Amino acid sequence: MDLEKLKIAGDIHKQVYEYVKTIFKPKIKLFDLSQNIENKINELCNFNNQYNNIAFPVGISINNCAAHWTPNSKDNKIELLNDDLCKIDYGIQIDGNIIDGAYTLSLSNKYDELIEIAKTATNIGINESGIDAVLGDIGSIIQEYIESNEITINDKLCKVKSTVDICGHLILPYKIHGNKAVPNIKIQYNERMKEDETYAIETFPTTGNGKLSEDILNVSHYMFNYNKYDINKIQLNNNLFNKIKTKYNTLAFCKKWLDKYNEKEFNELLRKDYVKKYPPLYDIPNSYIAQYEKTIYIKSNGVEILN
Ligand code: MN
Ligand code: MN
Repeated sequence: MDLEKLKIAGDIHKQVYEYVKTIFKPKIKLFDLSQNIENKINELCNFNNQYNNIAFPVGISINNCAAHWTPNSKDNKIELLNDDLCKIDYGIQIDGNIIDGAYTLSLSNKYDELIEIAKTATNIGINESGIDAVLGDIGSIIQEYIESNEITINDKLCKVKSTVDICGHLILPYKIHGNKAVPNIKIQYNERMKEDETYAIETFPTTGNGKLSEDILNVSHYMFNYNKYDINKIQLNNNLFNKIKTKYNTLAFCKKWLDKYNEKEFNELLRKDYVKKYPPLYDIPNSYIAQYEKTIYIKSNGVEILN
């Protein structure tokens, strides 16, 4: 990865955050929120990028939804409510150098403690990062911190848990999920960080049980299955595939970006495992989950926080 390009993409991520704070208002439609974020990213990415500037669909995950929800076209009436706990997760890529970052916002202040725990946990994860850091150890420290907290929401005392099923990850050129994870729980995992690697560090403290389930009926995120196939070697008689390859390649995408597409072709790509679904992930009903995510670059003498 190219540190200079990552820095530019990281600055754009920060500028978009400043913009999001100005439009995060009561009753904004979540569809419009995601659309405005996409437009802002494109406006700020005024350079020649071979593939989509937006590295993956804009996540707008509410309350007990942890990740991977973006409004589909049919969801265009859902409004932001005063009590919503909203995780906003978006990415910028420049020539495959991806920044993945997220934060949690709410119009209500009742989740402030939970949001603060997410921030602190991610910062702890970053402080533990660097050359030779053992990834399993980082997970253990993150979990220990998160689960030392008890908070009050709606006059109810809640234990805070760390999340098992979603965690930080290595980022590779054009590939959001590299082959190393940064766990949010204590597990035996002796892989180490190395110089010049790029990682997303993201934590998810929750008042639920930290074990997530997929809502397979409401999928919005998709990605070419680059763990199984080399996209540049695949030739298919499928127009949709060629469109995906040309515009997104191995970057994630959502259905609403495809405008007119043939459902049969889409299903063929899913059936043959060329494209994978990334369904929204939920903790148990009536729980609240927060997220805070930064992309970092491992240098010989420390880490660079990029967004
Ligand atoms: Mn993310
Ligand atoms: Mn991530």
